Amino acid sequence: MQGQGEWHENLIRFNFLQEDAEAILSIPLPKTCHQDSLIWHYDKKGTYTVKSGYQVALKLKYYDLPSCSENQSTWWNYVWNLSVPSKIRIFLWKALRELLPTQSNLNNRKILDRSWCFRCSVAKEDCFHALVGCRFAKKVWKLMPFSHCLKFTQHTSFSCFVQSAMKSLNRTEVEFLTVVSWFIWKERNNHLHNNKFERPEQTFSKAESFLEVYQATTRNKASPHVQLPMPSSTAIWSPPGSGLKLNVDATVNNQKGQAGLGCIIRNSSGAVMAAASTKRACLGSVEVAEALAILEGIHLAKESGLHLTLIESDSANVVSYISKKTSFRGELGWILDEILHFVDRDSDCKIQFAPRSCNLAAHNLAKLALSTSEPLFWLEEVPKEIEIWL
Ligand SMILES: [Zn+2]
Repeated sequence: MQGQGEWHENLIRFNFLQEDAEAILSIPLPKTCHQDSLIWHYDKKGTYTVKSGYQVALKLKYYDLPSCSENQSTWWNYVWNLSVPSKIRIFLWKALRELLPTQSNLNNRKILDRSWCFRCSVAKEDCFHALVGCRFAKKVWKLMPFSHCLKFTQHTSFSCFVQSAMKSLNRTEVEFLTVVSWFIWKERNNHLHNNKFERPEQTFSKAESFLEVYQATTRNKASPHVQLPMPSSTAIWSPPGSGLKLNVDATVNNQKGQAGLGCIIRNSSGAVMAAASTKRACLGSVEVAEALAILEGIHLAKESGLHLTLIESDSANVVSYISKKTSFRGELGWILDEILHFVDRDSDCKIQFAPRSCNLAAHNLAKLALSTSEPLFWLEEVPKEIEIWL
């Protein structure tokens, strides 16, 4: 670090690869001194737990699987919104994550002493083998009307197989594929545990009629798993009863590693006292950006000589962390500490959640920040493009 609140950019660029240097330089720094501490960055609070360690270990083991929390969330959203019963969606999720109790998985967990397929004994039974690679499964897949789009080799996992199939299948076909996989798994369990056998044609036609009946009964109803849009909120911003109210908001540009921060302070008659539109380095955590916006607003008030009585943010999580004094390590930790330091000292200043519709001026100031190169400040006025949101 160079002085307070700034990275020694040249030194970092000299010592690290470009990608790492950019990541380091995107970490926001406090303006005051804080003690260094080791943090576990896979956990939101920065503290190691066995649960988070286990999740990281799973990810390392199955590194080719998309993660719910990362950039493939759209892919998982697609899976969760398939029009099939929820038990089948859960089954698919488990299969994609290699979590079904296959012989290989049970062997890994030391429950079984063998991992070979009980049916053909020519390969280890993992999710791919049980659902696709084993000869019984292959015979079922060959009956599919789109079997020419399915590739049975070149895959190392069931997740690979599904992702490759999804490139050439439409949504209805993916739903069919999901239900067929589930019936293959059911047949496999019946075979293994009850010694009951089916022909591939039987499994296929069971899957086909099951899906037909399910989709016919749900077609005219709203799918239970599809979230209907909520009616838009009609609440609007209201002035504080007395004193000064600060509204803040943040918007994150992940590609540039930047957060736009918007802050506006108004009095009890709604008149603007001060406003700011600034940009800060941010690694992409929306909560960090929202917390930074609150801190920025507090600094704006201090520098303008204004005494705040109320702070409003539209991040319910960040407001709750502050109210409950939740402790975090890492950057969220020091930002919340600085906010709490201010709120505790100014005992008449309260912080509360406000819905987006009550926070439009701050929201648009945050958006404006990402489109300008310099930080912008105003006293007793705001620019024309923000006035319409007051
Ligand atoms: Zn087999």
